[in-house]
Amino acid sequence: MLPEQHGAIVIPNNNFFANRNGVPPRYIIIHGSAGGRRAQDIAAYFASTEGTLNPVSCHYIIGQDGTLVQCISERDGAWANGLLTKGHDSFWNVSINPNLLTIAIEHCKPSLDNSDALTGPQQLASFVLVHDICQRWGIPMRIADAEGGITGHFSLDPINRSRCPGNYPWEQLWTFLEGKKKKMLDLNDPVVRLFFTDGGNGTWKCKNGVMLQGAILIFYRSNGGPSIFGLPLANEIRLPQYPNTAIVPCERAIIAFDPERKIDAPPIHGPCYLLHIESGVGQQLLLQRSNALIHNLSAKLTQIHALSEI
Ligand SMILES: [Zn+2]
Repeated sequence: MLPEQHGAIVIPNNNFFANRNGVPPRYIIIHGSAGGRRAQDIAAYFASTEGTLNPVSCHYIIGQDGTLVQCISERDGAWANGLLTKGHDSFWNVSINPNLLTIAIEHCKPSLDNSDALTGPQQLASFVLVHDICQRWGIPMRIADAEGGITGHFSLDPINRSRCPGNYPWEQLWTFLEGKKKKMLDLNDPVVRLFFTDGGNGTWKCKNGVMLQGAILIFYRSNGGPSIFGLPLANEIRLPQYPNTAIVPCERAIIAFDPERKIDAPPIHGPCYLLHIESGVGQQLLLQRSNALIHNLSAKLTQIHALSEI
């Protein structure tokens, strides 16, 4: 398994529901480990429970030093949350196993009652991870409700897990996520309005007919939109040699969606980045485009010659 979050170390185990039985994740569940400091140790513990009477896992573990370990793919459901117990938040659908709906993040806390505050590096890793998972899966960046969102283990199991995650900086998380959201351009922005309309289902339709959607649209909106990238020139291009990636060429840059870092690995969090243009795929795309332009131009010149000879 390749890490799905930039910088994660993979220590896998087999305690998961493959492909979530087809259910996409709608929630992030925050946990506290009630013992242990190192993410690698908790990951080793999860792996050691394979085949026992109580096999357990989670998607990510964040150590007190900020080390991030991934154990389960976000596409699979981790055996992390147990079952719903009496008094659970009313928005949970009792007919669906909550492990199929959730991505679970464990935080190493040495105290058995989870009273420890997160360390600085742990808190930063946690906030960035929560934000990036929300972007990858379109999970609402707010306290969980019937539509999805973020909450703690206590929301599912208030009887046995009322102290999971225990002490967690919720207010700071909401502030962090709001700050990220505020940076995003919307369709009311006067520059955006010159070029885009609502394409339905969360998409933006450019006046040239190109549609922007999903993670690439979020990246475009979060990093300056038309003022920085110019307009998108084509719908998402899929490259057969790089599965699970997509590329959108814009007037001033080429955006890549590549959460598994198959094309390149720039030092940036999140599923999208800008392609190199002086080498590799980006250079090829530019060459193809300029060849096509030259071809077009010479065809037009031939037409003009033909007309002038009449
Ligand atoms: Zn828990």
